[in-house]
Amino acid sequence: MSNPSLEITFEFQVQHGSNGSGGEHTDSLEQHMLFEHTRASLERDIRRKLGRIVCGEHHEAPKIHITCTYDALNDQMDVNWNIDTCCKLFFVQVVKTLNQVN
Ligand SMILES: [Zn+2]
Repeated sequence: MSNPSLEITFEFQVQHGSNGSGGEHTDSLEQHMLFEHTRASLERDIRRKLGRIVCGEHHEAPKIHITCTYDALNDQMDVNWNIDTCCKLFFVQVVKTLNQVN
């Protein structure tokens, strides 16, 4: 008996801008903590919202892949979502649920 569960994966990238002068300005430990913080809060938020959501027709849980790109030059975090579902209908449902404020 399979028990579908929500799958969340993360990928982090750092963008260093274009003025190629050494990367000494950015502290990798600091970035690591920033990523960890982002990952933890996103994952908590997603699990709270999607919890045990499964497709009503296929009984599949969504797979969510999140790519966070840290722009070291502007000190900004860009978050890209990639949501993988068994069908389009369920995809719409997942997106709708994620976009709900609470
Ligand atoms: Zn489905």
